[in-house]
Amino acid sequence: MKSKESAIERYIKLRELIDQMAADLETVNAGGMVCRKGCCDCCVNLTVFPVEFFAIVEGMKKAGVSKPAFDAARACGYLDEQGACVIYPFRPMICRTQGLPLAFYDEQQEGYSVTFCPKNFADDDPEDLDFGPDNTLNLDDLNDALFEIHLAYLAEHPESGYTEQTRIELSRLGEYL
Ligand code: SF4
Ligand code: SF4
Repeated sequence: MKSKESAIERYIKLRELIDQMAADLETVNAGGMVCRKGCCDCCVNLTVFPVEFFAIVEGMKKAGVSKPAFDAARACGYLDEQGACVIYPFRPMICRTQGLPLAFYDEQQEGYSVTFCPKNFADDDPEDLDFGPDNTLNLDDLNDALFEIHLAYLAEHPESGYTEQTRIELSRLGEYL
């Protein structure tokens, strides 16, 4: 009998799906996006749910990665001198969607709004931008899926003392490697 997927396995599957969706959206939006290695204004020190934190730790251990360099003086301590991410293959979900046009339900507008990095689509006339389900990522769906996996992780680890609100500073990866 097939064993039930763990929350970390579910997280990895969701991350793979997001990577695929992000790659497709980068292709669809290629004309307006300038995201590239070394462009790091979007990087800041992050907190993540425990399931995401420990999925990253597990992935780094499996890959034989030892304690990553962390420079507390940088906007995100995992940036190197060239503005590149030293934990790039393991980076959290939010880092994988940064820069893409992200659709979310805007309660004030009572409808969907789209947000994206101001460096992207900067040469386009805002009037010409035409965003819809085919060229945006639905942020609410992503957040809902991630939160469900977070809850599954809490149920698997009642001894942890983690709660729905628990987030862990990504800067602490080195403590677990
Ligand atoms: S983890 Fe990497 S991609 Fe994410 S904010 Fe930090 S440096 Fe940027
Ligand atoms: S989201 Fe903005 S700051 Fe980040 S890599 Fe893309 S263009 Fe650069």
